[in-house]
Amino acid sequence: MPAQPNMRNTGSLRVAVVGAGIIGLSAALELRARGADVAVYESGTELGAGATVRAAGMLGAAFEWAIEADQRALAALARHAGMLWPDFAARIERAGGGSLEFSKEGAIVVARSDAETEWLETLAAACQARELPVRRLSAAELKREEPALTGVVKAALVLPEDRHVDAQIALQRLGAALSRAGVGFRFGRRVERIVGGQVFQMPDGERFDRVVLATGMGSLPVFVGPRGAPLEHGLVEAVPVKGQMLALAPVNGGPRHVIHTRDIYIVPKSRWVLVGATSERGRADTSVDPAKIAALKSRAAEMVGVLGSAPEVTAWAGIRPGTPDDAPMIGQTAIPGVFAALGHYRNGVLLAPATAELVADQVIDGKVSPLAAAFDPLRFDKQGEAPHSPSQKD
Ligand SMILES: Cc1cc2nc3c(=O)[nH]c(=O)nc-3n(C[C@H](O)[C@H](O)[C@H](O)COP(=O)(O)OP(=O)(O)OC[C@H]3O[C@@H](n4cnc5c(N)ncnc54)[C@H](O)[C@@H]3O)c2cc1C
Repeated sequence: MPAQPNMRNTGSLRVAVVGAGIIGLSAALELRARGADVAVYESGTELGAGATVRAAGMLGAAFEWAIEADQRALAALARHAGMLWPDFAARIERAGGGSLEFSKEGAIVVARSDAETEWLETLAAACQARELPVRRLSAAELKREEPALTGVVKAALVLPEDRHVDAQIALQRLGAALSRAGVGFRFGRRVERIVGGQVFQMPDGERFDRVVLATGMGSLPVFVGPRGAPLEHGLVEAVPVKGQMLALAPVNGGPRHVIHTRDIYIVPKSRWVLVGATSERGRADTSVDPAKIAALKSRAAEMVGVLGSAPEVTAWAGIRPGTPDDAPMIGQTAIPGVFAALGHYRNGVLLAPATAELVADQVIDGKVSPLAAAFDPLRFDKQGEAPHSPSQKD
């Protein structure tokens, strides 16, 4: 790991965050809370240019990783993030002027066939092995907990700690909380080049002690030394994973919980019911395919009959910022003083408060916590292989 540049009194530490998605804003909030002067650079002219506002807002620490036995470090990070979310949401709501629609209802996972029931059992066993709360539901309990589900469901369980927020609203509230905390926004500024050294000079001439890169799928800035020589950050390019999603109007008798099947999810919010999502690795275009959207709707209606007649509000595609091993890159790059908060793939909303903590530990205190060590942004070689990947088997 490269050495830290000279540390200053944190009260005067100036940090530029590049990228105003949920990762950049959460990092900015934590950095500000720990005394840094923070400015956020964003190429869009307002909040919402990236993946965050295309997300379903699920905080699925148990669902995502109980079945992914090879994602040990990521499971620990996700669990930690899931535990941080209630306080994180309350903090943003207090400072950001209103609700994020943080729902404490857990998620229900359902099976429609024998094969899916087996998969459900594997999921339940994996949750228990990881001490993640899980509860199997009898038919009567399921009817009581989620009457919207149709008779195709053969078995179900509840993941009580898998919560959800409205990701679009959360981003806006975070932005408001930051403005109130004195964080400056530089909208409409794509950061293409940063001059590094003991301090970092942005294209607009402003100077900072540290830089945090939270550009999602965007392009990373080029770094040069004071005399124009290139500085290598050592980061690999993000891997795009396209996701298409449908938003239906809320209907009477609609679901109360997030519902997962093996291939789709349904997320009820007050203004719409989201049905997602496709997973198209390597695709970075945001075109919407009506056939894929229709397939999402018909699968949702199989589970929740009333959704079959729910009017379609809108549909969209977003690009998840993946990495070669599907785990994020969090920590100092090969340029001392420049930090990555990148590659949060399909769980950036969930992971945001944990990533913010790990970034602030390193930027402010120069401390790499045990949770962060696995996500070293320099773990990949030139072929994108990571000999010590957090995705290694238990
Ligand atoms: C369909 C879909 C469903 C999803 N559902 C969930 C879910 O339920 N739960 C969950 O946890 N996650 C979910 N995700 C994943 C989640 O959206 C991402 O992991 C998360 O939004 C990544 O946040 P970010 O801040 O890194 O990136 P972004 O939100 O993309 O923000 C990056 C920002 O950086 C800006 N930028 C880029 N380059 C530059 C530059 N050079 N200079 C200045 N600004 C720049 C961009 O304009 C953008 O605003 C989903 C994603 C998709 C597509």
